[in-house]
Amino acid sequence: MELIYPSYYQTFSCIASNCPDSCCHEWDVQVDADSAARYRSMEGSLGDALREHLYEEDGETYLRNVNGRCPMWREDGLCRIQAERGHGALCQVCQQFPRLRHDYGDFVELGLELSCPEAARIILTEPMEWVAESLSGGEAPEYDAEVMAILKESRPHALALLDNAAVPLPQRLTLLLMYGYHVQAAIDGAELLPFDPEAALAEAVQFAAEGDAEALAEFYRSLDVLTERWSARLEPSVSPVWDEKLAKFAQYAVSRHWYQAVSDYDLTGRVKLLLSACALLSRLEGDLIQNAQLWSKEIENSGENLGAVLDGAYTEPALTDANLLGLLR
Ligand code: SF4
Repeated sequence: MELIYPSYYQTFSCIASNCPDSCCHEWDVQVDADSAARYRSMEGSLGDALREHLYEEDGETYLRNVNGRCPMWREDGLCRIQAERGHGALCQVCQQFPRLRHDYGDFVELGLELSCPEAARIILTEPMEWVAESLSGGEAPEYDAEVMAILKESRPHALALLDNAAVPLPQRLTLLLMYGYHVQAAIDGAELLPFDPEAALAEAVQFAAEGDAEALAEFYRSLDVLTERWSARLEPSVSPVWDEKLAKFAQYAVSRHWYQAVSDYDLTGRVKLLLSACALLSRLEGDLIQNAQLWSKEIENSGENLGAVLDGAYTEPALTDANLLGLLR
C-alpha cells in the first residue's frame, strides 16, 4: 500500500493558545460513538460539563457550541478535556483535526485542512512536495479502477498548469477549467488525448461573458452561512487582485478534491468549486489567508454547502462557464 502526503504534513504543529480562530470556534463538534459513551460515563465536574452540552441529532452526537465556542474551550485558548485528561481523551475529530485522511484501500492520501489558520498559513505560503512511502497492508480498492487511473494520470498535469508562473494566474485558472472538461470527457468514456493549452485558451475566450461578481457573492450568501465574519466579507470589489497565493489555494483544492470525483464521476463540479472560490477570494477585502481559511470552514467543511456548490455548478447562473470565465480575467 502506498501512503502519500504533502511535505508539511509531518511538521505541522498546532499553535494552540496563539490560534486566531481555534478548531472549535463557531461549530458544534461531532463526537464519535466511543468518545460519546466515555464522556457520558466520565466522573467529576468535567463529566458533568460534558453531559450538560452533549446532544443527539439524526443518530449522531454533538457537543453544543455555547456563545460561539466549544464549552470545553478555556480562556487560555486550551481545551479543558486535553488539559485535564490528555490528548487521548479527545474525541476522534479533535484528535485528528486538521489532519485529513482519504483511504482508497490500496493507497492512502494524507493532508491538512485549510480551515485551520495555521494550516492555511503553511499551505498558502510554504513550498510543498509530495512524499510517498510504501507500507504493508491495505485492502482491495472498491473504486472504479478506470476512472481512478484517469484521475491519477491527470492530477499532476492540473497541478503543473497552476504551477507555471510564466503564465498569468487568471489564464492558469482558465486553463484549469478547460482541462477539467478535457478530463471529464475521458471520465465519461472518451480517450484521454493530449491537452492543447493554446487551443483551450482560444476556445475559452469565446465562452467568456461579462463576469458578474455580485451574482457570485449572492450565491455564496444564499448558502448556509456559519459565521458573521464570513458574511461580513462577502462584498466583492470590482477589481480582482490575483495574488500568487491563489495558485497555491487552487493547488491545495485540486490535491484535496480531484480524486473525490471517483465517487460520483463529477470532476467538472469540483473544478468549478475551486474556481468560484478563486474568483470570489480575489475580490474580497482583507487578508487572503484568513478569507481562504474561512471559505474552507464555511464550504469545504459543510457537507450541505459543498453539495450545494457541486449541484449549483450545473444550475446556478453565477457558476456558468460564461460567468466564471468572465470573472477569471
Ligand atoms: S484551528 Fe489549527 S492551530 Fe487552531 S487550535 Fe485548531 S489545530 Fe490548533
